[in-house]
Amino acid sequence: MGSTTRRRISLALALVTSFFLTHQILHALSFLETTLIPEVYLRRTFLFLACFLFPILGGWTAFGLLGGGLFAFFATVLVFFVYGVSGSAVVVWFAAAYGILCYLLHRTDENFNNQIAGLGVDREKFQNERNDLEVSYKIKGEGISILFEKYSTYYNLRKLAEELATTMLVSELGRMVVERTADFIPRGNAALLSLADPEGRNLSVVASKRSRTEAGVSSKQGDLFDQWSIKNRKRFIVADSHQDFRFDVTETTRQLDIRSLIMAPILHEGRVIGTLRVNSSEANTFSNDDLRLLDAIAALSSSAISNAMLYEKTEQLAIKDSLTGLYVRRYFFERLKQEHGRALLTQRPLSVLMCDIDHFKDFNDRFGHGGGDLMLTRFAHILRTLCENNVAARYGGEEFSVLLPETSSAEALALAEKIRVCVEQEPFQIRREEVRMSVSIGTATIPQDTLDAETLIQKADEALYKAKRSGRNRVCSSAI
Ligand code: GH3
Ligand code: MG
Ligand code: MG
Repeated sequence: MGSTTRRRISLALALVTSFFLTHQILHALSFLETTLIPEVYLRRTFLFLACFLFPILGGWTAFGLLGGGLFAFFATVLVFFVYGVSGSAVVVWFAAAYGILCYLLHRTDENFNNQIAGLGVDREKFQNERNDLEVSYKIKGEGISILFEKYSTYYNLRKLAEELATTMLVSELGRMVVERTADFIPRGNAALLSLADPEGRNLSVVASKRSRTEAGVSSKQGDLFDQWSIKNRKRFIVADSHQDFRFDVTETTRQLDIRSLIMAPILHEGRVIGTLRVNSSEANTFSNDDLRLLDAIAALSSSAISNAMLYEKTEQLAIKDSLTGLYVRRYFFERLKQEHGRALLTQRPLSVLMCDIDHFKDFNDRFGHGGGDLMLTRFAHILRTLCENNVAARYGGEEFSVLLPETSSAEALALAEKIRVCVEQEPFQIRREEVRMSVSIGTATIPQDTLDAETLIQKADEALYKAKRSGRNRVCSSAI
């Protein structure tokens, strides 16, 4: 039920009650005139008062002060009307009492309203305070979330720094860097780390983490974005490669499906040694914060990567022969020890080839030391090609050795023969003169020939000299 309807019903009830009471008053007044007993007189007076009070209070409750006032007014008019009809003075007292009552009601109402108004002021004050508190809480909340974000970035970077200190392998470092980059900046499709080779000529991807299949960066110098980063030696963001005036995006680049990217160069002592990038197939994927983060990762990784590259290079220098690029004799013996242990444990065969270029001294005399060196590198190249997954070493001078794990005597002989034929047939020129060379090879195998590593080499050596004695350019096995 709506408030208007309720007011109408209250008004109707109040009017009906007033009407009814008016009738009662008139009736009572006619009796009042006829009695002189004080109790009856008082009782009737009280009845009138109560009768008038009811509609006044009803009006006041239903319609507020105005309603109460109107009822008081009509009640007074009514009383005067009754007085006029009955001619009794007592109704004048009633009228005065109603007036006082109305006045008291008015004051009470005023006080009440003042209190409500006071409460309203307080409420407004509290509302303002609440708003202020809410705003400051929100600001503090945002501050805390920014602080938390910064802390977690710092924590992750610190974790990456700790991880980077755990290995000296470039490939392992590359894997860590791209994985962390993909974790830090998950919006991209692929995180890639490319490093330049020691000569700084070629750039190749050493590690990548892709969230979906994406065409790789195939060019040896990286793509046009890598080249831009290397040339300008600074980080950059590409919001949309199709719109960016810095890059002449060709059809080939379009096929790579790189619409936006962020890239940071990996610098060491002012030199670009690689690039770290995150690609996306969508435009406008990355923010400047992402770029700053990528730059921080690149800066953090650069010294670890360059140290590892240096370490690997030093290690290679220590185990590789500078002229032929084959392993050195010391490394050959280290591996022999390892493979010998493994062969005994697994009871699998282990073979060794000992090779010696025939009449090498004559070539040296004919073409000089430089010509001799050229022959050594040619032979080393053949050995490397034919003994791909085995340990081929320069044993000393023009002697070479090959360690063949899991290779039987027959297989070793077959390989040796293949090498011999290849060397024999390989024509090459020294000082525009066509030269042919030949090699003698001796083979020995564990367990057929011996179970001892040192004796294995000795046996292969003996087989080699057997081949030399039998006329050179041939293969001999220790067993035969
Ligand atoms: P054979 O058929 O009996 O093996 O005869 P050979 O001449 O090959 O053997 P010899 O051991 O008499 O000669 C090996 C020569 O290899 C002697 C040495 O001057 C030369 N030599 C050793 N190391 C190098 C090198 O690094 N470069 C060059 N150019 N010559 C080398
Ligand atoms: Mg020799
Ligand atoms: Mg020789």
